[in-house]
Amino acid sequence: MAKKVILIWFRNDLRIHDNEILFEAVHKGNIVIPVYFFDPRYFKSNKLGLQNTGILRAKFLIESVQQLKDNLHDLGADLLVFQGKPEDILGTLCAKYEVTEVYHHREVAHRETKISERVETALWKEKINLKHFIGHTLYHKEDLPIPIKDIPDSFSAFKKKVEKESFVRPVLPTIEKIVTHPHLEVTQVPTLEDLGFSPTDIQNIYLNSDTLKGGEDNALKIIDMTLSPHHDDVDDYNLVSPFIAVGAVSPAYYYHKIKAAQVPAYKKKYEKLISRLLWRDYFRFMLKKHPNIFFKNHQPDLDIIASSKVLQHMISNGTDELVINEMFEEIKRTGNLPYEYREILAAYLTQTAAVNHLAGANLFEEFLIDYAPATTYGYWLHVAGFGTSAKDNTSSSWQDLVKKNYKVRSTAK
Ligand SMILES: Cc1cc2nc3c(=O)[nH]c(=O)nc-3n(C[C@H](O)[C@H](O)[C@H](O)COP(=O)(O)OP(=O)(O)OC[C@H]3O[C@@H](n4cnc5c(N)ncnc54)[C@H](O)[C@@H]3O)c2cc1C
Repeated sequence: MAKKVILIWFRNDLRIHDNEILFEAVHKGNIVIPVYFFDPRYFKSNKLGLQNTGILRAKFLIESVQQLKDNLHDLGADLLVFQGKPEDILGTLCAKYEVTEVYHHREVAHRETKISERVETALWKEKINLKHFIGHTLYHKEDLPIPIKDIPDSFSAFKKKVEKESFVRPVLPTIEKIVTHPHLEVTQVPTLEDLGFSPTDIQNIYLNSDTLKGGEDNALKIIDMTLSPHHDDVDDYNLVSPFIAVGAVSPAYYYHKIKAAQVPAYKKKYEKLISRLLWRDYFRFMLKKHPNIFFKNHQPDLDIIASSKVLQHMISNGTDELVINEMFEEIKRTGNLPYEYREILAAYLTQTAAVNHLAGANLFEEFLIDYAPATTYGYWLHVAGFGTSAKDNTSSSWQDLVKKNYKVRSTAK
């Protein structure tokens, strides 16, 4: 019988644990070839003059990919890493290694699904099937009690329904060994410079930034630390979201860890963490249900290019509001902000600076290390008053949000 050679196209699923495509490839394939692409489309500026991937997220991504490469190596395999468009490279790779099937996780936003379509077309010419998996959410699409088109728009109705009528799948068993091609080419993870960042910007982030280190091992360590009975963070600022965004940790893994945590005094905290994971699912399913709402301009009277110029001026020169400047500084230094501060910043920008919600979301896309299209664009809609869960639109002024949620913090990452 002919050998089954399965190529795994890693995207935002940069982990070994609980990874259905890797698990299935290892069990069904005789040879498994893991591949990752640094796609140039994600490393250029957009028409607003903002970068699709800012330097802090690029650094986090490089670290996550390097860690996956190291972890695959420990299991007997490797990760082939290329700079280029997957649709331009995959066909040649498949021919070279006699690949019989390609696996990948389906994404939800337009840019990502378009890339999958191009890859599918390119592979089709080689008569190779691209097998799609769905695996980014806490609740698997197949286990939802209703089709996505019937999911209630109200977040609380969605939460009630899935929690009552569905379940979270158990984490997949650990992979012990991977058999790969004996003569794989040698590839390296690119540096920030290879990705087009300037030496000055690179030096600057190493001197002045304070970011999380990417990668699966660090993700699992942070989860264990923040769920430990001795961890006492009043803000519940857990810092798992950047890892979930690149798939260095699976939502189900995090969920089952939270469920297994047993400190009765933290019951409310555990519920809050699970509810956050559900908000993430909610946005992904809503983006699928309402593909035309998330990226639509709901404020045509606010010019997007002009808004972007205002934003760029503010982020470089500051505003008259100290609290807002502090948040800009934190986002520039860490690529992160707690939820409450993101809401304050977005409310300030939409209410006082008359910034168009799409320009605001683009700014977050450049700067946040946990950027995820559905969540960023979904929240900006809510802050601007056009959210899919209308009851959850921001209704307070940014000053009231500051009074309610702002505290001075010194060690925020
Ligand atoms: C304008 C705006 C834009 C945002 N953009 C993003 C984004 O691009 N990516 C992103 O992951 N989150 C986004 N959020 C949600 C939220 O601010 C972050 O997820 C949160 O700050 C992460 O904190 P943490 O690391 O402590 O959460 P953790 O507890 O570590 O997060 C665990 C998981 O829950 C999700 N999560 C946590 N809080 C929320 C929340 N309030 N709503 C939805 N999901 C949540 C995280 O994505 C992660 O998957 C945005 C919020 C606002 C107001």
